[in-house]
Amino acid sequence: MSTVAGLVPFTSIDFPEHLAAVVFFKGCPLNCPFCHNPDLQMVDGQGVMSWQEVLQFLQTRQKRLDGAVFSGGEPLLQSDIVQCAQQVKQLGFKLGIHTSGVYPDKLSEILPYTDWVGLDVKAPWDKYDMLCGRQNIALKVQESLKILLDAGISFEARTTCDPIHLTPADIVQIASDLKNMGVPVYALQKYRTFPGDKNPPAQLAISAFFKPENLISVQNLYPNLIIR
Ligand code: SF4
Repeated sequence: MSTVAGLVPFTSIDFPEHLAAVVFFKGCPLNCPFCHNPDLQMVDGQGVMSWQEVLQFLQTRQKRLDGAVFSGGEPLLQSDIVQCAQQVKQLGFKLGIHTSGVYPDKLSEILPYTDWVGLDVKAPWDKYDMLCGRQNIALKVQESLKILLDAGISFEARTTCDPIHLTPADIVQIASDLKNMGVPVYALQKYRTFPGDKNPPAQLAISAFFKPENLISVQNLYPNLIIR
C-alpha cells in the first residue's frame, strides 16, 4: 500500500478555491537542490500512518472540507495511487494532485478521478536534467503537460524561483515555452529557505525575480500570473 509521509488536516492554499487536506506520499525519483522535503525523497522507510487511517480521517471531515490533495515527494510514484484516488472520490471529495510530471502514464490513469493538477516546471527544458539530477526528464514533463492540455482539466504550471540555479531570463524562457504549448495558468513561487538548507540564497537574490523589470516579460505572456 501507499506510504504516507504526512497529513495536513486543513489548507486553503494548496488546492485553488477549495478547503482541503493534504496527504504527503513518500518517495521521489528526482533530486532537486531546492527540495524542501528531502526526507520524502527516499522510497524506503515507514510511513507515519496507514492509508486506511487517512481514509478514516477524511471520513470525519466530509462536512468540513471539500477537497483532498495528493502531494509528496512524488505521489504518482505510489503503485496504488489510482486506487487511493478512487477511494477519495468515493468519499465525495474533489481531488488535487501535486506532481513533477515525471510519470505521464500514471497521470493519464489518475486523471479520471482528478479535478485539478499543480505541475512543477522546474527549469527551461535544456537545464532540466542538470537541475533534477536525472536524464530525459524534460520529455516526460512535456508529455504530462500535453496530457493535461488534451484532457481539458483545470491545472497550473508553476516554477520555484531558485536564484542559485535559475535566472530571471530562465523564467521568461519557461513562460514563453509554456505559452507556446497553450498552458493557460502559470505561477511563480518564491524560494523559501528551510531547516537544513545547506546553501541558502540571499534574500536580495530571492526577491530579484519579482522586481517589476524582471516580471514584465512574464506578465506580458501571462497577464494573470500567480505569485506566491
Ligand atoms: S520533485 Fe519535489 S519532492 Fe522531488 S526532489 Fe524535486 S522538489 Fe523534492
